[in-house]
Amino acid sequence: MREAAGVQSIQTIAVIGAGTMGHGIGQVAAAAGFKVLLTDLSRDALSRGVSAIEKNLAKGIQLGKITEAESDRTLQQIHGTTNLAECARHAELIIEAVPERLDLKQDILRQLEGASDQPFVFASNTSSLSITEIAKSSQRPQNVIGMHFFNPVHIMKLVEIVVGNATAEDTIQTVIEVGKRLRKEPIIVKDVPGFASSRLGVALGLEAMRMLEQGVATAKDIDTAMELGYNHPMGPLKLTDLVGLDVRLNIAEYLHRELGSETFRPPDVLRKLVSEGKLGKKTGQGFYDWSKDKEDRRSAHSS
Ligand code: NAD
Repeated sequence: MREAAGVQSIQTIAVIGAGTMGHGIGQVAAAAGFKVLLTDLSRDALSRGVSAIEKNLAKGIQLGKITEAESDRTLQQIHGTTNLAECARHAELIIEAVPERLDLKQDILRQLEGASDQPFVFASNTSSLSITEIAKSSQRPQNVIGMHFFNPVHIMKLVEIVVGNATAEDTIQTVIEVGKRLRKEPIIVKDVPGFASSRLGVALGLEAMRMLEQGVATAKDIDTAMELGYNHPMGPLKLTDLVGLDVRLNIAEYLHRELGSETFRPPDVLRKLVSEGKLGKKTGQGFYDWSKDKEDRRSAHSS
């Protein structure tokens, strides 16, 4: 069995997909001093990703969290490409953050391995898919692992390391070390549906929705119970609005199917809001009304 690359030998990290998660992963990797190859399907998608990084860094400077020199160094570490093969040839660690589809993630892994014999570590940022299943498309399943980051990546401290059936110990140690260099707190989780974070977080969110349906309290008061009574930084309904009700519904359906537990049966109120296109903050309405917030952002952009 070929061994995974040790962390000492990781100099270049490729990030596949420059969307919400990919650009954030690219940013923290570059800030930690790794060379970063950021990939997406088109030049347009890449520039959107790089602009988002520039915006995060500018905010960091404004808040006094980083210097201009650090921001410049971070940007210099990032190279954009639309060529997947380049990633396989140059990166010792490849982190994928493409949309949540098993066939897509497997296909990318196959393409990468077809492009190079280099035994890179392949980490998936999947929030729910099985790492063992993704690894079935690989010639080197011992090098396949989950690195589940949280949104926004440059702020959230957790990285969930998900260990598939075939993942080698060396691969686990490599990504733990990389996670620490990215200034994240790694936790190690078995490859089970929902891992540790989604399973608990979604259970709390769905129970809050059932309480809302039963008229136990208003959305705001349910959230306040968790914020002030349990010191959660944000209540479960507000969090669902930020994540997106459609995203939460998909995960709930998946966990309900896979774990066979009634805890994860999607409540009617969730289905109803999604069918009405009320998907949370991104559409201006979910459990809360965010339309004012959208207006504010629109006027801020035009000013
Ligand atoms: P996104 O839609 O914002 O970004 C995905 C990007 O991948 C897009 O820019 C798209 O153009 C690109 N892409 C699609 N096919 C590609 C291909 N073949 N090659 C290269 N690039 C390709 O998605 P996201 O929200 O960043 O989610 C990405 C992954 O991260 C998913 O697996 C998701 O479950 C997981 N995740 C998301 C969040 C979140 O809060 N958004 C949190 C944790 C994990």
